[in-house]
Amino acid sequence: MIIWGSCGKEKVVGQEDFFCPRCRSEAVGDHVRVSRYFTLYFIPLFPISTVGEYIRCDECEGTFEMDVLDLTQEDIEKALAPWRCQQCGNNNPSDYSSCLACKQPRANSIFLEDDE
Ligand SMILES: [Zn+2]
Ligand SMILES: [Zn+2]
Repeated sequence: MIIWGSCGKEKVVGQEDFFCPRCRSEAVGDHVRVSRYFTLYFIPLFPISTVGEYIRCDECEGTFEMDVLDLTQEDIEKALAPWRCQQCGNNNPSDYSSCLACKQPRANSIFLEDDE
């Protein structure tokens, strides 16, 4: 019997200079591509599709959406400041991704959801 399947695999495809929202300074990060691989007897042979890409900071190991590359220091400092809910106007701390008052998710959050 031939055992085949697929698995997710991460590969560093490049290095990017960016302004790290967590270090709050210029940093170098790995450009990581997550691909789904075809496996035969549990050995990954070749990528079938790209699942996603992200930037991982070399300094703090924080992971960020690719959009972080387009953000300036100013954009990031604004994103890290307390934010105002568009729905109800409540002021929320920067580390909450949804409104404390009405649970409305924050528009254009730069942080990946942490599901560990
Ligand atoms: Zn960092
Ligand atoms: Zn709200």
